Amino acid sequence: MYDTEGKKYIDGVSSLWANIHGHSHPMVVQAIRQQLDRLDHSALLGLSNVPAVQLAKKLVDCTPPNLQRVFFSDDGATAVEIALKMSFQYWKQKGPCWSAKTKFIAFSNAYHGDTLGSVSVGGVARFHEMFRPLLFPTIRVAYPFCYRCPLGKQPRQCEIDQLKEVEGILQAHHREVCGFVVEPMVQGAGGMVPMPEGFLGRLARLTRRFDIHLILDEVATGFGRTGKLFALEHESIQPDFLALAKGITGGSLPLAATLTTSEIFESFLGEYEEFKSFFHGHTYTGNPLACAAALANLEIFKKERTLQKLQVKIRFLKQSLNRFWELAHVGDIRQMGFMVGIELVQNRSEKQPFPVKYRMGHRVVLAARRQGVILRPLGDTIVLMPPLSISLGQLKKLLDITYNSIDMVGPCK
Ligand code: PMP
Repeated sequence: MYDTEGKKYIDGVSSLWANIHGHSHPMVVQAIRQQLDRLDHSALLGLSNVPAVQLAKKLVDCTPPNLQRVFFSDDGATAVEIALKMSFQYWKQKGPCWSAKTKFIAFSNAYHGDTLGSVSVGGVARFHEMFRPLLFPTIRVAYPFCYRCPLGKQPRQCEIDQLKEVEGILQAHHREVCGFVVEPMVQGAGGMVPMPEGFLGRLARLTRRFDIHLILDEVATGFGRTGKLFALEHESIQPDFLALAKGITGGSLPLAATLTTSEIFESFLGEYEEFKSFFHGHTYTGNPLACAAALANLEIFKKERTLQKLQVKIRFLKQSLNRFWELAHVGDIRQMGFMVGIELVQNRSEKQPFPVKYRMGHRVVLAARRQGVILRPLGDTIVLMPPLSISLGQLKKLLDITYNSIDMVGPCK
């Protein structure tokens, strides 16, 4: 990217984790241009449009086989919000035996967007606490954040990893719970925190056993970010809902989708006067320009063999990150595919955070910007999430500048 003075930058966080194939990829640009000559917008309320139909089919084809239906919207928060509302309405319409199901479960430190529904299931105090009086109650369970284990245990020896708390809560409350909302394989805005291996699979089995919808929020992880097209593929999960946004258009235009099963879709069918419809009518739902961009995005994955080429870059990233341990104030390095969090601490052995007023993350970002790299931190966790198309040379440069920037604002400097 270039700024208004013509200075060149590497986009180290994919413009808020959205860009996939580089900015203004010619195939995405062409798809939008061609569509613009045909039809700019026509809403999906009682009508349809060709790119939206084609995209729905493509999304169904590239996600787990149980997901057969697609509801379009505009951003990640709304994609999650729609899943929550659909899940709630499904249980209401299923019959009186299920009418107590009105609540959701979510993890500590979860982030699902900034609308009131998605904030209600969110668990990052910094973003969400202010709005608590406006939110619906959510059952919160501990996330396996091994670096800062709330139980002070080692990975794999802990009750959180074994889902003991979740099982207990589901046992006690499953009659009141519609669904469990999860960022699969890695929590993003909570600090780039990967799940232990096998955790998501165990969680999926529990939700099924207790008749609770599994709502996977792949807004951040979707479209290759973890090394597979979708994070759910790491553990072969078939969720009841899948929320997609950000990278869906390659990061070019706003679009989101909530996928679900035929069974859930059919529960919304009935006679007109039964009013079983899902009353969630967005003006720009299924916008043809955005859908055309999303079709081009999927096409580029195939044409450029994006996921195959990504694997060597993920390995390079992993190796290169080892060097960051040389920096005394790096407390933890977390990576899942092309999602990285480098947590800065005042004292590595005590894991003691820096005082907030030091604004360490912010200062690292400013130092990187001066050297031609755009980053955005999560508190004192430095995030790296470059476009999947980044070359090895550019990736090396991004890592070198990030290393220098962290070094420059080191605790003794
Ligand atoms: N869910 C997750 C997991 C996210 O990371 C984000 C955004 N960072 C959202 C939802 C919200 O997406 P949007 O900003 O498009 O509303």
